[in-house]
Amino acid sequence: FRLDAHDQSYVVKISNAAEDPMVVDMQLQTLRHLARVDPELPVPRVVATRDGAELSSIAGDHLLRVLSYLPGRSMREAPAVDLPALRRRLGATLGRFDRAMRGFFHPAARHEHPWDLLRAAELRPFAELIEDAATRKSVAAVLDRTADDVLPRLARMRQQLIHQDAHGDNVLVADGEIVGLIDFGDMVHGPLMAEIAVAADVRWAPGDSVEAIGDLVAGYDSVLAIEREEIDVVFDLVLARVAATLTIGAVRAASAPEVREFVAPYAGVLDDLLSRDGHGVRRRLRSRVRFPTGGDTVDLRRRRAEHLGPHTPQFYEEILHVESGQGPWLIGVDGRRFLDFYNNVPQVGHSHPHVAHAIGRQAAALNTNTRYLYGAVVDYAERLTGLMGDHLTRCLFVNSGSEANDVAVQMARLVTGAEGMIVMDGAYHGITSIIRELSPSKPDIGALPHVARLQAPDTYRGPFRGDDAAERYALDVDRAVTRLAASGIAGFIVDSAMCSNGVLDVPAGYLPAVAAIVRAAGGIVIADEVQSGLGRMGVWWGHELRGMRPDIVTLGKPVGNGHPLGVVVTTADIMDAYMARTRLFSTFGGNPVSCAAGMAVLDVIEDEGLVANTARIGDYLRELLHELAGRHDGRVRIGDVRGAGLVVGVELVTDVEARSPATAATTAVVEAMRLHGVLVGSDGPDANVLKLRPPLVIDESHVDRFIEALEASLQA
Ligand code: PMP
Repeated sequence: FRLDAHDQSYVVKISNAAEDPMVVDMQLQTLRHLARVDPELPVPRVVATRDGAELSSIAGDHLLRVLSYLPGRSMREAPAVDLPALRRRLGATLGRFDRAMRGFFHPAARHEHPWDLLRAAELRPFAELIEDAATRKSVAAVLDRTADDVLPRLARMRQQLIHQDAHGDNVLVADGEIVGLIDFGDMVHGPLMAEIAVAADVRWAPGDSVEAIGDLVAGYDSVLAIEREEIDVVFDLVLARVAATLTIGAVRAASAPEVREFVAPYAGVLDDLLSRDGHGVRRRLRSRVRFPTGGDTVDLRRRRAEHLGPHTPQFYEEILHVESGQGPWLIGVDGRRFLDFYNNVPQVGHSHPHVAHAIGRQAAALNTNTRYLYGAVVDYAERLTGLMGDHLTRCLFVNSGSEANDVAVQMARLVTGAEGMIVMDGAYHGITSIIRELSPSKPDIGALPHVARLQAPDTYRGPFRGDDAAERYALDVDRAVTRLAASGIAGFIVDSAMCSNGVLDVPAGYLPAVAAIVRAAGGIVIADEVQSGLGRMGVWWGHELRGMRPDIVTLGKPVGNGHPLGVVVTTADIMDAYMARTRLFSTFGGNPVSCAAGMAVLDVIEDEGLVANTARIGDYLRELLHELAGRHDGRVRIGDVRGAGLVVGVELVTDVEARSPATAATTAVVEAMRLHGVLVGSDGPDANVLKLRPPLVIDESHVDRFIEALEASLQA
């Protein structure tokens, strides 16, 4: 009853004598809880009796309580000015309700209730009461599927006391705002997404019902983040709710014929929902809250060519369409799992939860630039430099390996006043105009007067293979210094793993010898750790393994585990001289989100002991490769196995004695490996070296699987 006093209105509720007093108590305690934890939430307040009781009784056993009366008109009756916005607001109100109820429990929470979707199986026999045969069949099918497929999934999802009755009659609206959520009589301990299923009530959502569900989802998610499994169950729950409405309606119509009219429209609603492609609906709902969506492969391939252009490089002849990643696995849209032995970016594994959470948490708090003071960039710089030589104390943050190298070369040129750079023949260092000139692996980069290339220290196919290889290759540096007499020596840049050379086993002493000659000529030594850094070689840094002391270290690729991040680490003298002169500022460089990603990557490497794991598993991998090289006999042979930690080169040859490169066969092996579910790449001047750089989280079982696939592919 509505009770109008002289200045205020109230709602007087009298319970049926059969009502469980515990359930009434649960409603009262809910309102008390909400008043305490979210006083702004538009729900009624409990009005106590003069002696302070929340519950009284009338006519014997009938419980009586008084609540405050909320203004507004029911959402069903309110004029629909901007329905999508109103639905988003309702979604947000429900999210807020559920957020406020997270810490609440009541012993009656699992009381028996016909609308409880978790009891859909118990409704099933009553579906037989539905008069229309077609509707009866559809409802039965939905309830069966709910019991068999949906309920087991819900068992793993968040459940708590939910309102579960936010249809158009129980939501009050004024001036386009939600001003009331009333009627707590259907509360039950259930899945969060059931709130949306109820609110999607079509009686106030004309037009595209999926759009309406999307509005609710978007609003809810703006307050309480929906989880991946939850978004995929929303549509199933909407179907289950409509099926429940039709079933309960049929039961009630037996004693109250007017109910028939009330539920009649739901038959058409069910038909409409069932006529939709469920996958398509789930995809639409996912994209409403920006969960990744797969898309149709053929259509996506066409649109990719249209908007990115036909020359955008791709892996494999038929581009691999991937949907998600997990540890060393990439998962295709068709559900196929690929063991990723190629990609050195996800150092700590694809989509590592700690990294993903760190990015999300920092993004939700603040993202800005280094012109402001904040902890993330300082903490990260401190931690990173703590992992390197004592002389490397300063960091400069950019957004890619190329940018880091570009700045490093600028630094070398600025502090030396010279132009000339020494690089490894076959090297790759990045895409900027300065760095392209220093990347001879790119075929369009010709000879330049200010760039000298060193003969790569290849002890397998190069000219020097014996014990004196280091000294003999190092002689080339003297020639380079002489060649650069006109431009002077600004520096030397090198990838310790020599990845683009086909992962070389650089002879001991070679890089320290080169560095010494470069320094004696006045140059700066730059260690490009984009490939070799962050534990990849079984030690923290590649230069450490090679015994080389760099003046500048550059980082990219794995530092953010896929989040764009590049770092230049150097001495105070070099950094201060460079910054005093250039005042370089990169808008995104050092932003808190990127730093959070970088920090989280370091956490994982340390927490999961990945440097030691890399050394151990890398040795195991090479041991099995050597064994395979010994036993595999065919037209394509393993000529050489190289590398350290988990950067490994497997050189394929057609003739073991002549060491002739098996270039075409290598491409075929890479494609065959893909068919066996393993991703690898190829590199080297003759493109005959399988390049392996799996995430550092792999274990022996992954190596075994890789070896099996390689053996089968070589045989094929
Ligand atoms: N240096 C090396 C050794 C690299 O392998 C790469 C990328 N392959 C780069 C620099 C350039 O990094 P980015 O693509 O992030 O610019």
